[in-house]
Amino acid sequence: MPVQRVVLNSRPGNNGVPVPAHFRLEETTLAPDLEDGEVLVRTLCLSVDPYMRCRMNEDTGVGYVTPWQLSECVDGGDQSCHEGSALQKVDPQVVDGHLSYFLGAVGITGLTALLGVREKGNVTKEANQTMVVSGAAGACGSVAGQIGRLDGCVRAVGICGSEEKCRALVEDCGFSAAINYRKEDIPAKLQELCPDGIDVYFDNVGGGISDTVIAQMNNNSHVILCGQISQYNKDVPYPPPLSEEIQETLRRKNITRERFTVLNYMNKADAALCELSQLVKSGHINVLETVVEGIEKMGDAFCSMMKGGNIGKQIIKISE
Ligand code: NDP
Repeated sequence: MPVQRVVLNSRPGNNGVPVPAHFRLEETTLAPDLEDGEVLVRTLCLSVDPYMRCRMNEDTGVGYVTPWQLSECVDGGDQSCHEGSALQKVDPQVVDGHLSYFLGAVGITGLTALLGVREKGNVTKEANQTMVVSGAAGACGSVAGQIGRLDGCVRAVGICGSEEKCRALVEDCGFSAAINYRKEDIPAKLQELCPDGIDVYFDNVGGGISDTVIAQMNNNSHVILCGQISQYNKDVPYPPPLSEEIQETLRRKNITRERFTVLNYMNKADAALCELSQLVKSGHINVLETVVEGIEKMGDAFCSMMKGGNIGKQIIKISE
């Protein structure tokens, strides 16, 4: 059976910016017969995610994922064969038929947001807390701010890269306000929008944006160290080292900053996915998505997402 697949064409190098030419679409054939226990799968939707950047390097630098090999399929294709035991059956009712949500708000990025806030955020009802989210208009960030509000924060302020994203956060996702980091003065806007300081910071980006947020955090506040995407095209360890000044701020103000890895909380995933499903279906969480069509767009979609071309979860629709 002829099928299409995307393979890794070349590597950007540890300090390079990924471009679509690093990927290549090719035709291949699947063996006609299935082995015992194998299942023929037709892909409906694919996800591209920031962690894939480290899979483009010869060494990922982290223990939980392996590097992609040159000319080998970057996981995902429009039809493929799998061991049945490696597959997870999903119930379309859980997402009201909106199947791509399984890759986002009712999947791993939704879990990251919900469990990240619950495990590391110390959000307490009626504590008058202010949450700031960086990478706020992305898949994890847009849900994290909404969870923060639902769990009791009086304010959720998002930091993101465009006016359109700022508008989506405030008008569609219930953020109190949003800052366009490309245009606005972040320290001044944070002071204006967070008059009582910052109690919880959901950090997706790291780098200078996070240094600026941390400088305005309250005593005994909490950083949820979710991701550091501003550093992913650089050859630095994860998490990237902080400056002595920021470390001193963390110590002096007794700010916790614990690394959060969703894969360490899979024992809580079933209950959390059930909750996310309810929150989405009841309209308490609004889901943002950017959808492109066609497996040949995988490389473009990945590179675009790494530069901020997406609002909400970046999805590639492969077939109906
Ligand atoms: P997003 O949907 O948030 O897409 C990535 C976004 O990052 C872009 O849209 C862009 O938005 C922003 N971005 C890119 N470069 C920069 C930069 N230099 N400075 C500031 N913002 C930048 O992706 P996800 O929601 O899937 O992932 C968000 C973060 O969460 C990542 O760091 C990822 O690694 C992490 N993650 C962590 C998990 C965990 O278990 N800890 C699990 C899943 C994800 P903009 O226009 O605003 O720049």
